[in-house]
Amino acid sequence: MSDRKNAKDRGEYGKAAEFSVWHKDAELPHFAALSGNLKTEVAIIGGGLAGLLTAYELMRRGKKAVVLEAVRVGSGQTEGTTAKITSQHGLIYDKLTKNYGFDAAWTYAAFHQQMIDEYEKLIQREQITCDFRRTESWLYTCEKETRLLHREAEVARALGIPATYETDTPLPFAVTGAVRFAEQAQFHPLKFLAAIAKKLTIYEDTRVEKVHGHQIRTNRGVVTAKHIVFACHYPFVIAPGWYPLRMSQKRSYVLAVKNVPQFEGMYYGIGTDELSYRFYGDILLVGGGGHRTGECADCCGFRHLEKCLREKFPEAQVVGKWSAQDCITHDDLPFVGKFSLLRPYWYVASGLKKWGMTGAMACAKILSAQMCGMEEMGGGAGEQKVLTDAMALFKPQRLHFLAGMHAIREHAAVNAKGLTAGNLLRRKPRCPHMGSELVWNGENRTWECPCHGSRFDKNGIVLDGPAQTEAEAALHD
Ligand SMILES: Cc1cc2nc3c(=O)[nH]c(=O)nc-3n(C[C@H](O)[C@H](O)[C@H](O)COP(=O)(O)OP(=O)(O)OC[C@H]3O[C@@H](n4cnc5c(N)ncnc54)[C@H](O)[C@@H]3O)c2cc1C
Repeated sequence: MSDRKNAKDRGEYGKAAEFSVWHKDAELPHFAALSGNLKTEVAIIGGGLAGLLTAYELMRRGKKAVVLEAVRVGSGQTEGTTAKITSQHGLIYDKLTKNYGFDAAWTYAAFHQQMIDEYEKLIQREQITCDFRRTESWLYTCEKETRLLHREAEVARALGIPATYETDTPLPFAVTGAVRFAEQAQFHPLKFLAAIAKKLTIYEDTRVEKVHGHQIRTNRGVVTAKHIVFACHYPFVIAPGWYPLRMSQKRSYVLAVKNVPQFEGMYYGIGTDELSYRFYGDILLVGGGGHRTGECADCCGFRHLEKCLREKFPEAQVVGKWSAQDCITHDDLPFVGKFSLLRPYWYVASGLKKWGMTGAMACAKILSAQMCGMEEMGGGAGEQKVLTDAMALFKPQRLHFLAGMHAIREHAAVNAKGLTAGNLLRRKPRCPHMGSELVWNGENRTWECPCHGSRFDKNGIVLDGPAQTEAEAALHD
């Protein structure tokens, strides 16, 4: 990650297309690298939102936790977010109810609704200025078919979410149907991160290379910890845990746009080429163009996103753009909890499937409860019951028949294709993570792993994990 890191250290945020709008007015504190060996109660690998919130919640409960960050805090996917804090995670509630039953869907809804309130409480308690505000979240479509949205509104309401079905929205173009969730929120993710980072013990420029039992080997020294949390976005350890068989990555694109009419709320389109929207000041953040990492086609990426944007906002002026990616699990639920039965003192916070604002807070609460005990978590009996149920629902070792079938279709097939003996023998650039053949993404000028989503620049320098080392022979003009 050295190129990226150097550009950031030179203060080039916003100049390079890949750095998001959030850097323009957030100053993140610098932290020294680890120097020598260290013993601690909890070591958290990764200084993104999930890692820092977990460290913060542990610190509040008296645990001695350190964060080990390979580059800078917030420099991972968190800097690429659009920062909608919502329990509206696309079309999910009808699906969850069908796949897991009403009670599980209720837990998912109640827990993520609680996480919005947790942000508000934390921001008030610490008096953080981070542009947090309550607003509505909308799922919408402009296509004829609206049955799915009708159903989603009905199920979400039954699960206790303040949801309504609407045909009118504040968007400056007509929709055919929409689901409105009241009292959701948005904020400035890096202003928030900067404020909580100041309260924590963090070592930047400290890359974890290997974890063996309670020992973490970094490029700066060895850390010995009673508990170890993998909050490094995609856990880079293959076994135990076997997360690569159950998780892929999806990349999404964001345009920062001016010269468009202002409107209230946050939006997520569910039809083909329908985009996501939220304002930050007078800048509209427009998201879309997504694809599985390593499978970019003409109907994806920045060019396609801009084409879709111009259909709705022909006068729009693009003032910035960036892309990021997130981990998608085999069954629509994140992986939060014990890493593996074989390592009861390792924990994982991953698979947040592009909903990592409420997701990161959920990780922090679950992992703190597991390390500190339920009695330390506060809240009433109702809240504690939701937390306990969420812990069971997001347990990384869960097994479910429907989800298992989906995993075989979505993940095993791609893994098999990328890892065939033929591919392994061909002299093509390969991913150092598990040896999958890399694919060249011409628009982004990156090598990408279609199996697990690692990305490299044209010289093979790693940009996104799970790979942690350079890809050999990944040279491209
Ligand atoms: C385009 C886009 C828009 C999104 N918008 C929203 C939204 O509106 N609302 C929402 O809820 N979610 C959204 N998300 C999802 C959300 O941004 C992510 O889920 C969340 O930021 C993930 O945070 P994280 O802490 O898990 O990962 P990261 O922020 O990636 O943090 C992981 C950290 O670990 C570090 N690391 C990696 N390997 C090592 C190592 N070996 N040693 C030490 N450190 C290491 C990395 O440098 C990084 O800083 C969006 C995602 C995308 C892609």
